[in-house]
Amino acid sequence: MAILVQKFGGTSVADAAKIRRAAERVIKAVKDGYQVVVVASARGHQTDELVADALELNPNPPTREMDQLLSTGEQQTVSLFAMALDTMGYDAISFTGGQIRLLTDSIYTKARIKSIDAERIHKQLDQGKIVIVAGFQGVDELGNITTLGRGGSDTTAVALAATLGAQECEIYTDVDGVYTTDPRIFKKAVKMNVISYDEMLEMASFGAGVMHPRAVQFGKKYDVKIHVRNSMNETEGTIITHEVPQMEGVVVSGATLQKDMAKIGLAGIDNVPGNAAKLFARLARAKVVVNDIIQTEIGPEKANLAFLIGISDLPAAKKAVDDIKDELGCESVFIRDDIAEVSVIGVGMRSHYGVAEKMFGSLAKAQVNIDSITTSEIRISCAVSRDEAEKALEAVCLAFELDKPAEQREKTE
Ligand code: ASP
Ligand code: MG
Repeated sequence: MAILVQKFGGTSVADAAKIRRAAERVIKAVKDGYQVVVVASARGHQTDELVADALELNPNPPTREMDQLLSTGEQQTVSLFAMALDTMGYDAISFTGGQIRLLTDSIYTKARIKSIDAERIHKQLDQGKIVIVAGFQGVDELGNITTLGRGGSDTTAVALAATLGAQECEIYTDVDGVYTTDPRIFKKAVKMNVISYDEMLEMASFGAGVMHPRAVQFGKKYDVKIHVRNSMNETEGTIITHEVPQMEGVVVSGATLQKDMAKIGLAGIDNVPGNAAKLFARLARAKVVVNDIIQTEIGPEKANLAFLIGISDLPAAKKAVDDIKDELGCESVFIRDDIAEVSVIGVGMRSHYGVAEKMFGSLAKAQVNIDSITTSEIRISCAVSRDEAEKALEAVCLAFELDKPAEQREKTE
């Protein structure tokens, strides 16, 4: 029997009526002949509320206790979900991360999955049960509860789909799928039918909130077909899958905006082997996640180096830089805490020219100044002032016709 993993996000299980509705989806899949594993998030904004509760008591809560607390949200959902299925005449059993031995490392609040006990789940499925698993949580070797980072239920779902050899992993949310850009900012954004793992990964890493980046990495590594769709309607959503040749025909698939960014620049550091390594080792030790790095030589003696980070990492990054700047021979440090980053993403960039020109041209026309530029093979990102972020995104989206489905855009050579 084929296995289907269905993941329901917080909005899809926010109250009793919604849980019932989600349960109906599960029952439909069972009737279609699937063995179903459900992964559920905490209801509504419960995780945010738990975070607020913690911060009210302690502005700097111990991370172990944070995970212990936050994991309770998902634990409530899964038992309620199983109860709902029971009243509908279906046999269901709920599990916490620990109960299916979802083993992680011990990095609280951003743990990584090491392994999952598939046997326990298979056994229940083979007895005809629907298995409901609490997303976002695991345990380390010692049995401490860990969580996978905000939005981590997606990762639980895709990792389970991989481990169980599921036919597909459905991610149910409150929108119809993955959009060309955030429709809350650019109203004319359209739903994509299909997107490659690499594009989705860049989108997720550069601000598209729909999917947890680790989930997409898992999907790519273990070849899990991911289907992002709306829990409130039957429309086909967006399939995240391997790249197919037709995708090359679309130059830019999507655009993202990251609003809460900061930039630290180190001017005139010594141009010697090992300096960049020292700086980033120090930042890594401070657990700072670095988005983009730009370094240029300014003559044989000196170099300039700048990097972009999320604003929440700024205090830690500032301290790390302060600690090490003299050792690097740094002449001055400059910091901008008002940065936003606009990115365009598309595998078609590999085989088309003129993409950079079009992006920079659209920003110029909108009178938006570009602070710094970084690229990957399938992405171009521009840092801009936060107060111009929306204007910049809109300009870029219109330039690449992200208000139209891919098939209707003007063909480029
Ligand atoms: N409940 C967690 C969060 O809000 C995990 C998730 O929903 O994916 O981040
Ligand atoms: Mg989510």
